[in-house]
Amino acid sequence: MSATSTSTVMAGLDDIRGAQEDLYRGLHASPELSHQEHRTAAVAAERLRAIGFVVHTGIGGDGVVGVLVNGEGPTVLMRADMDALPVREQTGLTYASTVTGTDADGNEVPVMHACGHDVHVTCLLGAAQLLAGSPDAWQGTLVTLFQPAEETGDGARGMVEDDLATILSGVDVALAQHVMPFPAGRVGTRPGPVLAAADSMRITVHGRGAHGSMPQAAVDPVVLAATIVVRLQTVVAREVPPVETAVLTVGSIQAGTKSNVIPDVARLQLNLRSYSDVTRSLMLEAIHRIVTAECQASGSPRDPEFELFDQFPLTDNDTSTTERVTAAFADFFGDRAGDIPPQSASEDFSDIPHALGAPYTYWFVGGVDPDAYHQAELAGRVAQDIPVNHSAVFAPVVQPTLDTGTEALVVAALAWLGG
Ligand code: ZN
Ligand code: ZN
Repeated sequence: MSATSTSTVMAGLDDIRGAQEDLYRGLHASPELSHQEHRTAAVAAERLRAIGFVVHTGIGGDGVVGVLVNGEGPTVLMRADMDALPVREQTGLTYASTVTGTDADGNEVPVMHACGHDVHVTCLLGAAQLLAGSPDAWQGTLVTLFQPAEETGDGARGMVEDDLATILSGVDVALAQHVMPFPAGRVGTRPGPVLAAADSMRITVHGRGAHGSMPQAAVDPVVLAATIVVRLQTVVAREVPPVETAVLTVGSIQAGTKSNVIPDVARLQLNLRSYSDVTRSLMLEAIHRIVTAECQASGSPRDPEFELFDQFPLTDNDTSTTERVTAAFADFFGDRAGDIPPQSASEDFSDIPHALGAPYTYWFVGGVDPDAYHQAELAGRVAQDIPVNHSAVFAPVVQPTLDTGTEALVVAALAWLGG
C-alpha cells in the first residue's frame, strides 16, 4: 500500500462524516432481529447501488453482496453483520431503540443493537463510499458483504448454502471487524485464534420412572444426570492440556415434576468454548464417552441422545494476511493499533472465507469513551463500569468509533488494492 493512495481515499472522510453519523443513529434506533434484517439490508443495497456497486440481494435471507470492479487486481471481501438482539435498551441515548419485534418462537420482544452491528454496517458503507469515490487510488475488485443472523450463528452458513460461491469467485482475502469494550480510536488483532469456537448441546438421558418410596423399581435419571454434571467437570480439568483454554458449562438441567415421583428422563444443556479444532473434538468425544458410560453404570434402559445446536466455528486468523493488516494498521494508526488478546466470544464470519477458500483476518475496534475507560482503569473497575456487548447499556461513542472502524476497513483493503 502506498501512503499516497491511503491519504487520497481518506481525504473523503470529512465529507461523509456527518452522513455516517446520521446513518448510524438511524440504524441504532431501528434494529431488527436475526433473520428479519429487511430494512437494514435495503438501506445497504440502496447505498451500494448509488455509489456504483453491482448489488445482489436476498442471499441466504437478507444477505446483500455488492461488487465494484475497478480494473485488474486482487479481490478483497469485507463483511459486516446486520442483526440486533432481543434486549430492552437502557442506554438513555436520544437515538435509543424503543422497537419491539417477534422472535422465532412468536414472542413479542424488545429489540436493541446491543452488539454494535449497526457500527459495522455504517463503517462498511462508509469505507465502500470512500473507495468508490477515489477510483484512481486503487485497483482490483472490492466486495462488500452484509450478513444476516450472526447472533444465531447460521447467517453466514445460510449465505454460503444459497450459492454465495457462484456470485463470488476468486476472492483473495476476506476481512471483518467487531466493535468491543476497548477505548474508542484503538484497533487491533493478532494471528491465530481470536474468537472461540462455540457449541451448544442438548443431552437426554433415560431412566425408569417409579414411586419415590420405591427406588428399587427405578433407574433414577436425576442421580444419573447429577453424576454426569460432576464427571463432566473433569473434561477441562483432566483431559484438556493445561496450556489450552477451554470452557464446558452445564447451563441447564431439567428432570421431574414432584418430590415423590422418580421421573423417567433428564435433560441437560451444555455450552462449550474452545480455541482449536483438536480441543473441540477432544471435548465432544469426552462428553459422549462420559455420558454413555454413566448411563451404562446406572443401568439406563435406552441410549442417551445428543443434539448439537447454536454452533459457531473457530475464528482463526491467517498468519500472513494478519501480518499484512497489522503492518498497514501500524503505519496508519501508529500507537492506536496493537495486539489484542483472544476473546471468549464467538462469530460465524469464518464460514464465509472457509467456503470461498480465502484466507482471512478479523480485528477489533474500540467503542468506549477513552476518558471513561481510563478512569475505570485507574479505579481498577473496568469489569464493573464498562458495559460489554449484549448488555442493555452497551453504547459505543459515535466518535471516534465510526471514523476508526471506517478507516480500519479502508486501510486493510488498500493493503491489497492500493498497489
Ligand atoms: Zn453479539
Ligand atoms: Zn456481534
